[in-house]
Amino acid sequence: MTKSTTVDAARVELLLSELRLPGVKLMWARLAEQSDKEGWPAARFLAAIAEHEMTDRGRRRMERHLSEARLPAGKTLATFDFETVPMVSKAQVMALASGNEWLGKGANILLFGPPGGGKSHLSSAIGLALIENGRRVFFARTTDLVQRLQIARRELGLESAIAKLDRYDLLILDDLAYVTKDQAETSVLFELIAARYERRSMLITANQPFGEWGKIFPDQAMTLAAIDRLVHHATILEMNVESYRRREALDRKRGRGRPANHATIEKTRSDED
Ligand code: ADP
Ligand code: MG
Repeated sequence: MTKSTTVDAARVELLLSELRLPGVKLMWARLAEQSDKEGWPAARFLAAIAEHEMTDRGRRRMERHLSEARLPAGKTLATFDFETVPMVSKAQVMALASGNEWLGKGANILLFGPPGGGKSHLSSAIGLALIENGRRVFFARTTDLVQRLQIARRELGLESAIAKLDRYDLLILDDLAYVTKDQAETSVLFELIAARYERRSMLITANQPFGEWGKIFPDQAMTLAAIDRLVHHATILEMNVESYRRREALDRKRGRGRPANHATIEKTRSDED
């Protein structure tokens, strides 16, 4: 390297720091060397750098969206066994997971089913897929979010707390049924539902379809108004299956302590001898 190119290189590093382009700062020298060696036109060199920065930014953005979403770890569509919930169409879930159509008009998903049926898993997996498709998602246990909003209201900041949630294309409220009236006034939940209506989507899971919702909201009129808004544009998935945890435990027991698939192999072997 000549003295003047060394000076240029040092200047580039300085400028890239100043411009806050750490990704470019890390890789420009390697590309510059290749460009010099292969005699690239200047535009080709610049395009290569810009492309690299674009990819890098996309990756960083997705990482940010993933960490802000607070999804339960390890729940993906790939690890969700659709065969255990025959009433839920895999094709329909995959279409929803693309985010097309429904997120744009603020439509909702309602997921009902008994405990252990896979509601949290499936909702989290849909959330993850949406993030991978460039959307922003926030996952919360309903009780936690209600508590947060109640604190905000006490501090006269309910409206802005709800407005802040607008940045998320999808708000996942897990376990609606566990919010009970005596847990304090649940009207914050109604405020949230009303504010997002036809603008921003929600995915709500609950053990009980609407029958028990009277226990969640302060009065019947509010219960009906909430349900009305939620179902107006909604996909309702009912997962009326036996608890996956219970099934797994039963399978283990049948397999004398071994995981189900191993037990099957063992059984075939002992049948042979
Ligand atoms: P729910 O929220 O309905 O109570 P979860 O989603 O928490 O149920 O499911 C309980 C456990 O069983 C979790 O560990 C989940 O990953 C697993 N599980 C449930 N359904 C399925 C499924 N269809 N395929 C794979 N794992 C499942
Ligand atoms: Mg759950």
